[in-house]
Amino acid sequence: MLPSVQHCLAHLEKQPDTAAISGKRLLHCCRVFLSELRQAILSGERAGELTRPLVLAELHHFVQDYHRPSLRRVINATGVIIHTNLGRSLLPPELGELLSTTASSYSNLELNLKTGKRGSRYNHVEALLCELTGAEAALVVNNNAAAVLLALETLAKGKEVVVSRGQLVEIGGSFRIPDVMARSGAKLVEVGATNRTHLADYQVAINPETALLLKVHCSNYRIIGFTGEVPLSELVELGRAHGLPVMEDLGSGCLVDLSRFGLIKEPTVQETIAAGADLATFSGDKLLGGPQAGILVGRKEIIRRIQKNPLNRALRIDKLTLATLEAVLRLYLNEEEAFARIPTLRMISEEADLVKDRGQRFVELAAGPLKDTCHVELCRMSSLVGGGALPAQDLVSWGVACKPVHIKAHQLERWLRQTTIPVLAKMEHDTLYLDMRTIAANEVELLLVSLQQALAQKTL
Ligand SMILES: *Cc1c(COP(=O)(O)O)cnc(C)c1O
Repeated sequence: MLPSVQHCLAHLEKQPDTAAISGKRLLHCCRVFLSELRQAILSGERAGELTRPLVLAELHHFVQDYHRPSLRRVINATGVIIHTNLGRSLLPPELGELLSTTASSYSNLELNLKTGKRGSRYNHVEALLCELTGAEAALVVNNNAAAVLLALETLAKGKEVVVSRGQLVEIGGSFRIPDVMARSGAKLVEVGATNRTHLADYQVAINPETALLLKVHCSNYRIIGFTGEVPLSELVELGRAHGLPVMEDLGSGCLVDLSRFGLIKEPTVQETIAAGADLATFSGDKLLGGPQAGILVGRKEIIRRIQKNPLNRALRIDKLTLATLEAVLRLYLNEEEAFARIPTLRMISEEADLVKDRGQRFVELAAGPLKDTCHVELCRMSSLVGGGALPAQDLVSWGVACKPVHIKAHQLERWLRQTTIPVLAKMEHDTLYLDMRTIAANEVELLLVSLQQALAQKTL
């Protein structure tokens, strides 16, 4: 009963939106569609209800979807600011031109313009990173997981690394400190208990095989109650006494003090360096608010050794990342500028009243268009920083509670993910919530368009 490929092609060539797609591509789409449908029929997943017009309508919808670019813009209404699944930090929109020029022009990526000789791509950000963090030297790689792997491989391959048992973090995906350690060829020596580790625990673990003392920031979890960690400065003292380097994986790596906005105090990179860490690693796209990158700062001798590791070549940073990272770091040269222009910092520090105004504007805008399909109401919410930063910190926020009239909220949630600009919302107690903290001022109208599209969706 399934139509032939020829029949499918003839149907698609008559539709205005698929007619422009090349014949070869349409043929490929038809084959994929028919093969998936055949599979679904054979497995009993699809039975009796199929008719020729229905199959052709499904084909048309399938091709529209299949031919769309896969990586697309979405609206983040979850209230999680650094959302790994949604691309973590947003770059300042004004970097668009820099990105496009760097991408489509030649650059002095690895050329010293003064001498005309070969230069290093790392030079473009090293001095800035040193100025901002107080470190002697710096290096940037693909991401922080790469930074940690590279550092351990360079400093401790075949040797022992001492870490507190309470700091063996899993970031999500597959990054776990014990696994990365194993891959680097270093041997993990866990000390202390889950909730408490003392200086003496590190002391007794040190032996001639020890190469490094490692501290890992408990990014995405907190141990509360009867707890204790050894402060970095004491670990540094111990390391010095035994001639061992001390490294801290900061995870988020913040360059500004967020406690002035009433947030829980996180150690800044500057403080980590000032406390004497020989090496610190952190992400470019978490609290820093830049592109995906891994940043290593620390003592010159250590950074140079890491830089020379052949593995570095496999983890190197690309020019577009480097260009945007430099631009974002330059914003930090003036802290007010950083807070005003780096979206991650702006969203974290935005006053709740301004978030509320945006919610109010949306409710007013939506009142007419949605009056028969969805109840919308301004409500208090709490946002999260995300990205494994400040897990215990709720940010007071405002959002919109949506109760659709004709469909269930979870259905609306699903359809919102399939609109032209998909919207990721928050579901709770059969109500759909849109947190306005992560929605930019210029997205309020777009949000309404997506909501209207989702509410008008017919079951397929
Ligand atoms: C996020 C994180 C990483 C991994 O960083 P990516 O930039 O995602 O590779 C490593 N360590 C800690 C402590 C982290 O929080």
